[in-house]
Amino acid sequence: NAKASGRNCVRTFDPTLRRPNEDAGKLVPLLAAAIDRRLVSLVYQPIFDLRDGQMKAVEALMRLRLPDGTSVPPSVFIPIAERTGSIVELGRWAIKTACQDILASDRMATVSVNVSPVQLRSPGFAMSVAAILEETRVSGSRLALEITEGLDMEMQPEVLQCLADLQALGVEIWLDDFGSGYAGLSWLRAIEFHTVKVDRTFLHDCSDERGLTMLQDMVALIRNRGNTILVEGVETEAQMSVLQNLSIDRVQGFHLGRPVSADLLALTA
Ligand code: C2E
Ligand code: MG
Ligand code: MG
Ligand code: MG
Repeated sequence: NAKASGRNCVRTFDPTLRRPNEDAGKLVPLLAAAIDRRLVSLVYQPIFDLRDGQMKAVEALMRLRLPDGTSVPPSVFIPIAERTGSIVELGRWAIKTACQDILASDRMATVSVNVSPVQLRSPGFAMSVAAILEETRVSGSRLALEITEGLDMEMQPEVLQCLADLQALGVEIWLDDFGSGYAGLSWLRAIEFHTVKVDRTFLHDCSDERGLTMLQDMVALIRNRGNTILVEGVETEAQMSVLQNLSIDRVQGFHLGRPVSADLLALTA
């Protein structure tokens, strides 16, 4: 229960807990062996400049395929991997694989990789990123790390130091899902984000006047800080024209490009 799990009582609201416990239980050993057994892969979703339509970056998204061929969405396996600590290894693998893929591709200028608070709090994370950059010979400026504002993402001095160390490597720090929680404004104040990704709910709610005003206010807030504004979750042409009117910098969504393998991205982009 919430009390027994102490400071992680946020788990109580985790929808994956409503799944039968055996389901999560089966995933635990699979996640621990997922890299060796080649059960994980990365797909890449393009990010476009709204003005010139050019692909400016790609976001790496992790996929898990079980031995029986079924796939499990990140919304299910990431929280489990965070709980067991497997996310530290999986996350390192993701950054390294993304760096290798970016070198092999002439279409990827920058690759952004999602990182979990558990990774940021794990000792030596910034050093492990430095080691990957050195090993793969990828310039830090081609890597972006997306952090999500969340209840479990406390603004501890170690985390702030880790982000500063990453920025010193030239790595861009992006704020993901901005507006989805309560901590976004504190994060904006504490860190120089390169890019702020506006949570897709703000776009999806902007079909009425109130929602549109919210999105406008959000955009003004980020713009006044000088961060690049990215709106994710673009699904329709109508949404594209709303974003054009707001002079958004970058866009990402199913309407513009679905996440695909590195090989397919090279063929289709
Ligand atoms: P996110 O970082 O906000 O990633 C965007 C999610 O929105 C992706 O879901 C993507 O497939 C989906 N998406 C893209 N365009 C659209 C659209 O137009 N409409 C809608 N409805 N959705 C769209 P996905 O791949 O299922 O990932 C879900 C979340 O899992 C990610 O949200 C991220 O927080 C987490 N995640 C994924 N890969 C990793 C990873 O390698 N490491 C960590 N720590 N978390 C990851
Ligand atoms: Mg993301
Ligand atoms: Mg994220
Ligand atoms: Mg997001």
